[in-house]
Amino acid sequence: MFVVEGIFKPAVSQGPGQIQEVLDHLLGALRMNGQILGREFPVVSAGDRYRTFLLVPGENSLDKCLANTYVLKWLNKMDELGIEYTWKVLGPESCSDHICKCEKPKSYILYTTYVSLESPIRCGICFGSIPLYRLPATRDDEYRDIITWESDYKACDTLQMNCSTGERFGLAQLSKHDSSFAIRGREICNRITVTTGVPTYYYLLKSSGKGLKTEQARKCPSCKGEWLLQEPLHGLFNFQCDSCRLLSNIAWSVRSIG
Ligand SMILES: [Zn+2]
Ligand SMILES: [Zn+2]
Repeated sequence: MFVVEGIFKPAVSQGPGQIQEVLDHLLGALRMNGQILGREFPVVSAGDRYRTFLLVPGENSLDKCLANTYVLKWLNKMDELGIEYTWKVLGPESCSDHICKCEKPKSYILYTTYVSLESPIRCGICFGSIPLYRLPATRDDEYRDIITWESDYKACDTLQMNCSTGERFGLAQLSKHDSSFAIRGREICNRITVTTGVPTYYYLLKSSGKGLKTEQARKCPSCKGEWLLQEPLHGLFNFQCDSCRLLSNIAWSVRSIG
């Protein structure tokens, strides 16, 4: 991930309300096209210009050639209104994971956590993050279904991590292969598998278990087949079912015993 400063210089005649409105639309469209990450974009009015600091998946994420219809619409609107804009790449974000550079990933994984800022699509080979705009749009020229899935994952993961309100609800949504949340996620994986020809896996969180042996004996919850891996994949996933395209882990509560 990289940090980019967006600088916008409006024409003299424009009021702050009009600029803020165009900016809100543009940043929203960039987010739904996977060109910027997160969902909070503070804007500072400084002198004759406006500044905002953005997190982007790669150094060239804001190139115009990656824009979809909606981003182009708002970029054109800025030109029409005479708002000059520049994107200044400040550098790599210091805590970010690497971006996938594999020529042709053999699989993808839909994966995030309550603290992750990366794109929720990971490469099955290197586990690097994959900017959404590298994939065919999943809905109406955007990635709205993936991005709303991602924010709901963070919401459920936050509930279970905070162990206070809604802990059991959050955990069940993330752990069960047939929860309403998992069904949405698995539909996204199916769509990506079909449009890219690359199998896309869905991860089921396992938080606590009775013991290591019981955990290792777990079967795929969907087809009841064997799915235990000899070696964990990317140090995270102990189970993989290729028929159902599901991944899971030995419960975190017992993993250290092994
Ligand atoms: Zn990769
Ligand atoms: Zn299965």
